[in-house]
Amino acid sequence: EYRPGGFHPMEPGEIVHDDYKVMRKLGWGEYSMVWLAKSALRGHVALKVMKAEVTDIPELHESEYLHRVLTADPSHPGFRHNLHLLDQFYICGPNGRHLCFVTELLGENLHQYANRFPQRRIPMAIVKSILRQVILATMYLHDKCKIIHTDIKNTNILLAHSIPGSGEVLSSPTVKLIDLGVSCWADRVEEHFSDLIQSPELRAPEVAVGAGWGKPADVWSLGCLAYELAMGKFMMQKCIEDICVPYFHAAYFGPHPPSLKSGKFRDVFFKEDGSLKHTFPHQFHLATRIRRCLPQNMDTEGLIHFLDLILCLDPRDRASLQTLMEHPWLSST
Ligand code: ADP
Ligand code: MG
Repeated sequence: EYRPGGFHPMEPGEIVHDDYKVMRKLGWGEYSMVWLAKSALRGHVALKVMKAEVTDIPELHESEYLHRVLTADPSHPGFRHNLHLLDQFYICGPNGRHLCFVTELLGENLHQYANRFPQRRIPMAIVKSILRQVILATMYLHDKCKIIHTDIKNTNILLAHSIPGSGEVLSSPTVKLIDLGVSCWADRVEEHFSDLIQSPELRAPEVAVGAGWGKPADVWSLGCLAYELAMGKFMMQKCIEDICVPYFHAAYFGPHPPSLKSGKFRDVFFKEDGSLKHTFPHQFHLATRIRRCLPQNMDTEGLIHFLDLILCLDPRDRASLQTLMEHPWLSST
């Protein structure tokens, strides 16, 4: 990916934009490379360096979103669970011009954090605490910033502590939602660069069939995330292909409602009579699977009830973030 249009080649020790001493790679994604850097002015920071070809596409509004997050309403409880921008600039190199975001330095992402626990199952009290924080972060984006995240998943949620220190930090971590790279304005969803948002495993049913989507699509991803944090694996684990997502949804949650059968991709997935082109020989039963894996107690039943409110095929039936935040399971200890 180090080619014209791709990533910017950087070396530890290098100074960029006069102030940021590059130290090591923190991570990367499809569109960017993220580096740890040290600034005389700001101390340790994260540098997100976009690929050159992404820098110049007009649909990239990440900078506008990050600014909105900073200014919309700092008194909202979700404010501190979103990533804060500190600075931004361009760097030019052999592969082109790269937009570069300087943000606060955070710790490991939830994909990495889960490895600390047997079978990658995060203890329920921590799962609940993480969910409360991510729901607050998403409420802030939806209600105050008018932003739909569209890519809520474990690698986009980071522990706030950059240095894995005391046990306390790890047993009640503060988390932040990051990566507004593919987000969109809630009132301008049609300007999104693709209809097919979200990773297949966390993709909402209305997205998968092209039936139009909005804020409830983020809520669906939150449900998939809740399952994953508690169970240690994706809810729809073997489903990694775009083309099979609606079939999995039907096998897990029953037939699609009429409003979803008329989606843009209806001819891909549905026959003329409205039935699916492919079906599984059996239904998957989520509650049974959860009860088989987790201890039989109130917490497990609480999780099942919580998921029931979210995992509704029809986005109009799906719980609101407010309802979820008030769910008794989420605040019980
Ligand atoms: P992309 O849009 O390419 O997915 P992300 O913003 O999600 O980029 O960052 C990719 C990865 O880099 C994250 O999963 C995380 O591991 C790491 N990372 C991103 N931002 C930070 C940060 N502020 N502090 C520490 N690590 C980060
Ligand atoms: Mg990402």
